[in-house]
Amino acid sequence: MKIVEHNRTKNEKFLTLENISHRYEESWVLNEITYTFENKKYVLMGPSGIGKSTLLHIACNILKSTYGKIETTHEIGCIFQTLNLLNDFTLRENIELAAKIKHKKPEYEEIAYLCGITKILDKYPNQVSGGQKQHAAITRALATGATFLIADEPTGNLDAESARIVRNLFDLLNRKLNIGWIVSSHDPAWLDIADEKLTLKSARLNTL
Ligand code: ADP
Ligand code: MG
Repeated sequence: MKIVEHNRTKNEKFLTLENISHRYEESWVLNEITYTFENKKYVLMGPSGIGKSTLLHIACNILKSTYGKIETTHEIGCIFQTLNLLNDFTLRENIELAAKIKHKKPEYEEIAYLCGITKILDKYPNQVSGGQKQHAAITRALATGATFLIADEPTGNLDAESARIVRNLFDLLNRKLNIGWIVSSHDPAWLDIADEKLTLKSARLNTL
């Protein structure tokens, strides 16, 4: 199958966090964060409890920040730690159902091919590996029109080899389809493929 290389210069899409602050009860997890994500590969590192998931959930618009706002020209695809694949449906049905809910015609053949799941599309989630589920969740996000991916610890529960394949896939999606992404992780291996390396410290976003 031929995969078209996209023109990386025509690329004005962005995701901006504007003065984002967030607190749970009395404790401030994020403090006045302003940052623009371009269409690039971002890795958000940092130990547990530092606020990575909070930041990503706000960026995905599934959590409303205490203060501040998000602006984006992207269709954001979110891949959470619990992948939310429906166990009674095959991977293909999961992908098609998600598209249907968004009133989109599912176009996933090329993406499924890139993600290496063409041969397992008719299997159920519990018949495939953790890495393959990640690939299916990525395919699902892209099949419903996502132009930017936000993934919270996509290799957190995977063995070293599956994690390597998932990292390679994220890299490939950027090279072949010009999909930008933010991935959170503890694993320094992500640093090798990131364009920008970020971390949270004292509720502020810093470059590593
Ligand atoms: P990370 O993803 O880096 O592990 P989180 O964003 O999940 O960090 O959490 C940041 C901090 O906010 C932690 O101290 C966590 O206990 C707290 N926290 C997260 N979610 C909630 C919540 N729903 N209610 C209260 N505290 C929370
Ligand atoms: Mg987290």
